Amino acid sequence: MSNLRELYQETIFDHYRRPRNCRTVPGANHCAEGYNPLCGDRITLYLRIEEGVVKDAGFEGAGCAIATASASLMTEALKGRTQAEVEALFERFHAMATAPADRPVPDEGLGKLAVLAGVREFPARIKCATLAWHTLHAALRDERGTVSTE
Ligand code: ZN
Repeated sequence: MSNLRELYQETIFDHYRRPRNCRTVPGANHCAEGYNPLCGDRITLYLRIEEGVVKDAGFEGAGCAIATASASLMTEALKGRTQAEVEALFERFHAMATAPADRPVPDEGLGKLAVLAGVREFPARIKCATLAWHTLHAALRDERGTVSTE
């Protein structure tokens, strides 16, 4: 178990140091900003969706290791998925991040995103992990302004 935890931490640290898709998206047609006042994390998410499929995803912003790694892993996971698949992934991720810490991780179908399950043990960090996903929700609905985790 401790080896698994180390692997998880390594992956999170790697995505924090070298975030994937940390850039604007040319021709983005969905965009939203997210803010987590609890920690001070801010991200702007860009999506290019064509015929219901996410063709490209990127983000910019400043956040803690968890918020940055979560946005990095999420943008990697989104590409090539339909909007329905993205919604299903949001539900799964949210269920994992908010599940009781003393239960097995419900990580089915989450792949690499499961490395963020560790936040369950740190309730204050859950919003860091879910910020990118709430911002994603807003971007899909094309909401203007800033979504807040509060
Ligand atoms: Zn944070």
